[in-house]
Amino acid sequence: MQDGDETKVETTKTALRRIDISNLIEMIERGFIHFKIEEFNKFSPCFEELAKEQHPKFLVFACIDSRVCLSRVLDFRPGDAFMARNIANFVLGFNQVEVILVIGHSKCGGIKTLMALPDDAAPTYDFIHDWIKIGLPAKAKVMAEFGNEPFEIQCKMCEKKSFRFEVSTLEPNPSSGFEFS
Ligand SMILES: [Zn+2]
Repeated sequence: MQDGDETKVETTKTALRRIDISNLIEMIERGFIHFKIEEFNKFSPCFEELAKEQHPKFLVFACIDSRVCLSRVLDFRPGDAFMARNIANFVLGFNQVEVILVIGHSKCGGIKTLMALPDDAAPTYDFIHDWIKIGLPAKAKVMAEFGNEPFEIQCKMCEKKSFRFEVSTLEPNPSSGFEFS
């Protein structure tokens, strides 16, 4: 190990010592107790039925972005939806449900990475870069239409185009896209 590496290791160790996880554990405990009292105990018959079987009406594809909180945004209850979350909400296949929902969002880091990826990028063996290449067809569409626009506009359009691109590839009954704002 070189001198520089040892300094980095020491810096990381110091940073880790500064992280007080007791607050985070308390936060999780508070959240679980709140769920037990306000949700589970109040609606126990509903949870008893769900324990036996589930019949979700939706399959939702959404970004893993922590700001995309589907239970809050769509008021989903337990049993309402299968959730498939990944970077940039790519659609990777689906089951037999009544509705497939693809949730895109603004300021998506995955889409920004996709749009910044050079066309001739060599394999990096970086998980995110390899993953994000799934969206290259959507990026190509955006660049064909908005190649002369600023990078921020291209990202914004790709957030919408990747969503529409995914919806249009769904079979057998691709539904049209719509947007909330
Ligand atoms: Zn995202």
